[in-house]
Amino acid sequence: MPAHARKKKAEEPEKAVPGTLIDNVDGLTGDGKGGIEHFDGFLITPDGHIAQVYHQGEKRPKYADYRLDGKGQVVVPGMIDAHGHVMSLGFSKLTLDLSGTRSREEALARIRAWTAAHPDAPWILGGGWNETEWASADLPTATELDAVSGGKPAWLTRVDGHAGWANSAALTAAGITAKTNDPKGGRIVRDGAGKPAGVLVDAATALVAAKLPTPRPEDRDAALAEAQLDLLEHGVTAVADMGTSIEDWQAFRRAGDSGRLRLRIVAYADSIANMELIGGPKPTPWLYDDRLRLDGVKLFLDGALGSRGAWLKAPYADAPETSGLPLLNQTQLSNLMSRAALDHFQVAVHAIGDKANAVVLDAIAELSQTYTGDRRWRIEHAQIVSPADIARFGQHGVIASMEPQHEASDRTMAEARLGPERLAGAYAWKSLAATGATLAFGSDTPVEPARPFVGMAVAVTRQGADGQPVGGWQAQEAISREAALGAYTTGAAYAMFAEDRLGRIAKGYRADFLFLDKDPMLASPEALRTITVRETWIGGQRAWAAAQSQQDEAQIRPPEADAPASQGGDPAPDR
Ligand SMILES: [Zn+2]
Repeated sequence: MPAHARKKKAEEPEKAVPGTLIDNVDGLTGDGKGGIEHFDGFLITPDGHIAQVYHQGEKRPKYADYRLDGKGQVVVPGMIDAHGHVMSLGFSKLTLDLSGTRSREEALARIRAWTAAHPDAPWILGGGWNETEWASADLPTATELDAVSGGKPAWLTRVDGHAGWANSAALTAAGITAKTNDPKGGRIVRDGAGKPAGVLVDAATALVAAKLPTPRPEDRDAALAEAQLDLLEHGVTAVADMGTSIEDWQAFRRAGDSGRLRLRIVAYADSIANMELIGGPKPTPWLYDDRLRLDGVKLFLDGALGSRGAWLKAPYADAPETSGLPLLNQTQLSNLMSRAALDHFQVAVHAIGDKANAVVLDAIAELSQTYTGDRRWRIEHAQIVSPADIARFGQHGVIASMEPQHEASDRTMAEARLGPERLAGAYAWKSLAATGATLAFGSDTPVEPARPFVGMAVAVTRQGADGQPVGGWQAQEAISREAALGAYTTGAAYAMFAEDRLGRIAKGYRADFLFLDKDPMLASPEALRTITVRETWIGGQRAWAAAQSQQDEAQIRPPEADAPASQGGDPAPDR
């Protein structure tokens, strides 16, 4: 008890309340009804929940176990990334990163340098390239890669994960020759003579992927640590992991068991088989103080727009011979969705093209008659939707899980692929929200970096970092700041069945919050894009802090994030 409290003891003693009082902040949170609530202090229980939120002038306890003066800083709820790939993000930090390359020469130079710096690597692995960002937008070739890879096999995935670039040694390792047929749902890009040229699309990528050295458990642990660091640094406190393998799950469990899991991860298995293996007869309970849960399954119906794998109703404007590739037929899709829904697993289906979205909506309409109740069917990306299908999102409570950053990165590519007529239903956030569908925003990291405030800036402006295009692209689909913040907090929490515990700074919620350098409701769009996270708190503990914040460390209890979290605490009731 503080000394000044002891003096008062003779009079009416005011007992110190347990927990941490965070006071004198410029706080804001979604109110769960689409509005914003402001506050200037809050109390955290010793077990990391919000005990009370204080508004201006409201009395707060005189003495708390710990008190932190926020010095007027902006505080918001932790951001929730509604669609990410945690382990891929981690591995992207440990392998060759070609993202941001502006020409193939730059990419080749980076590969040459990485190869020289990693003489012991048996394979050259990495990714992040995007030929549409290069000066000449031709697909790269095996021959180009041979020249910089020192004879080792090299396999570099495209930024969207739907294609990969192999060199000759990798093609040989995978047994791919001129005689190899395109696998179902995939394509081997070929030269004029029919020989494999180097790039493999969608299902064809598995031919090389099957030959890659398997990461060891300690490699996965290192990747998870990298992913957590990147997400915490940018204010992401929870993520929906879209396509969790059994190895991914085991890495999450190892981190939870040893107290290294700081981030909250809601997992969607990468297959029905792994969903059953991990969850057994139903979704797992929340584990490690609400840090981990398997909620459902992620299914793929089509590919991506960039590699023309997205399944469209009409042919591509810039490749009239194709309308894209469905990866499942309608019966297969319905059967898989049905298998998951039968045991109350949540279903998340990747659908990018307008045909794919229509087919998932058909399946949802059909299955909703059998699988009643609160199902929260998720469509991941929902990038291109026919105006006629948009209203169907509002029916059956479909969640539109979308990535604003994709719009800014892909708009010129989308124009080329789709032509002008189909753009009205592209990245149609406002129209989808207007149907009553819940918007949940994510990054698809590592496809885009997980930068929620960049995403918010795009969501409200429909412009890229360069301020282009003037006035915004299809600006009628821009949304309000309240709606954008909601999509990264309350909406994303709802989309993962966590709206009762995550996404708001409110009594009873987990104390996940950020100190920011600017108010996202007031900052100019340019300033919104460059908001800096000063501190990231999860479960009432400081999980990450920028260097300049660490001088305040003495004012509060030391972070306990290295201590093991209790295991399997307070499992959620079945839903
Ligand atoms: Zn994804």
